[in-house]
Amino acid sequence: MERIASFDIDHCRLEPGMYISSINDDIVTYDLRFVRPNTPPFLESGAIHTIEHLFATYVRNSRFKNNVVYFGPMGCRTGFYFILRSVSHADAIALTKETLSFISAYDDEIPGVSATECGNYLDHDLKTARVHASYLRHILENWNESLLNYKR
Ligand code: ZN
Repeated sequence: MERIASFDIDHCRLEPGMYISSINDDIVTYDLRFVRPNTPPFLESGAIHTIEHLFATYVRNSRFKNNVVYFGPMGCRTGFYFILRSVSHADAIALTKETLSFISAYDDEIPGVSATECGNYLDHDLKTARVHASYLRHILENWNESLLNYKR
């Protein structure tokens, strides 16, 4: 089988930030990298799960709710993929920053946390999710379109 494109980036040079993973017509997959690859600690199970719930809930209620295709964690637990349709890169960065700010300050019931709504509803950690969200939010403070390309 052929090696897929996401294995082609040099993970040893990848720093936390926001990158374009792929573009397919009007659909852009963003790489939200929270942890430098291969440098533990990685995103913990409970925190990654809580970030998933809060991020997805926020963006699917935002002004871009009809443009959100997907948000979910990477199996390596160093980040997430965020897939948007027909949204400019500048708006994608702004929405991501806004969402991370929302998670950083979130202090309420985690949405979708019950046995009927979630596949592992006891595995959540809001406190640690906030720490991770706040960390990437600071990294993205002055992020712009020129920084979205992976360094090759
Ligand atoms: Zn869940």
